[in-house]
Amino acid sequence: MLRPRKAKIVATLGPSSQTYEEILSLHQAGADVFRLNFSHGTHDQHRNTYEIIRKIEEFVKSPIAILADLQGPKLRIGEFQECAINLINDATFILDNQNISGDQGRVYLPHPELFKAVRPGVELLLDDGKIRLIVERASEHQIVTRVKVGGKLSNRKGVNIPGVTIPISSITDKDKADLEFALSLGVDWVAISFVQRSEDVSEAKALIGDKAKLISKIEKPKAMEHLAEIVALSDAVMVARGDLGVEMAPEEVPTAQKMIIREGREAGKPVIVATQMLDSMVHSPAPTRAEASDVATAIYDGADAVMLSAESASGEYPQESVSMMSRIITQVENDPFYHNLIQVYRPSARPTVQDAMTAAARQVAQTIPIKAIVIFTETGHSTLSETREKPKSPVVALTPRIETARMMCLYWGTLPILCDPISSLAEMVQKASDRLVANNVVKKGDHVIILAGVPFGQQSGANIMRLVEIDSEYKDK
Ligand code: PGA
Ligand code: MN
Repeated sequence: MLRPRKAKIVATLGPSSQTYEEILSLHQAGADVFRLNFSHGTHDQHRNTYEIIRKIEEFVKSPIAILADLQGPKLRIGEFQECAINLINDATFILDNQNISGDQGRVYLPHPELFKAVRPGVELLLDDGKIRLIVERASEHQIVTRVKVGGKLSNRKGVNIPGVTIPISSITDKDKADLEFALSLGVDWVAISFVQRSEDVSEAKALIGDKAKLISKIEKPKAMEHLAEIVALSDAVMVARGDLGVEMAPEEVPTAQKMIIREGREAGKPVIVATQMLDSMVHSPAPTRAEASDVATAIYDGADAVMLSAESASGEYPQESVSMMSRIITQVENDPFYHNLIQVYRPSARPTVQDAMTAAARQVAQTIPIKAIVIFTETGHSTLSETREKPKSPVVALTPRIETARMMCLYWGTLPILCDPISSLAEMVQKASDRLVANNVVKKGDHVIILAGVPFGQQSGANIMRLVEIDSEYKDK
């Protein structure tokens, strides 16, 4: 179905959204992409959820994208004899390589790579930054620190080290097993966490091959330093504001968000803005005004998609969160100022046939009323180039490949529809009209633009453009 908005919604699934009815209600409320979070849950649970989504896909007769989000190297301390300790400011605290329960003075740190990576003066942030330790000295066996901000510290809390490149791959053994499993299910997108360098992206790409598309989660300041290369190698990026806000000061996150969106737009790669977007809706049926404004700002900035985490996965109001997000996006997109803003910051077309064609289609749709820009595509490349233009009309991507159709659910403004391959110009017009009428996108007398590649069936990329008036004779087909 054609949604009343262009930007997409990614909804994370979890205990609050695991049955057929719950997931269907999220899809109907506006979720375009479902995220399986591999930081939680068992393979059996994820398989079950995956199968439910595919059943819903059959029921709604519309492709749905599934994203597997890999946990990545989330660093954690070991355990304490008494489960937790209370760290006093200015006390000495040691993290070492002794795999035995910790106490008031020390704890096991099960990441040998860290001992060599830290230097005196470096700050270790524990438990999402609630506890701060300053490194005084480090050897191969232990890191001696001084407690700067103390408090309660319990078993297996996370460790963040802002500004230090940790010489470990962003894909752990757990990630490899999860990835293999997710690909065997048939997920459309894979997200990798804590990307630091472009090598992390290439490594993941080599493991994934052409089985799925790759999202790099930008959640470390190091990734910001290599942003252009990371974006260039990825198929999409995520502004992962949760961990990013621990690794850098909270006031730096909005600037980073805007920078990532600009970089993604320039490169023509979808950008997802994630985490705490409607956080108070975990426990409340309505968001705060600041949250509504946060979602709106991401859309005004040109984000391709916005994401819900705990709101849809473990909150009390998953369906309300999705519909609220959808309403905020629609409101922004109906503001004439939004179109001006989006067009003012539109990156110029790159010197390729695809960009020349898709920019021309955008321009036609700006000159006369065009109900849809229809693109025949095998791989989704031309669709991506059209979404980079952010045209006024919706983009309808017709493809014979279900994998391409599902994957394109994340693309801004795109309605993917399955369609048999075409072999002539007459068939091109016929099939496009047919599919558009069947999906209630157009009625008789509407104008649409059709982009396709000739010779047909050879993955030529869009190289012809036709302006078509929908004829009544297609109505009943
Ligand atoms: P996470 O990633 O939910 O997997 O931690 C998102 C974020 O850090 O914002
Ligand atoms: Mn994260």
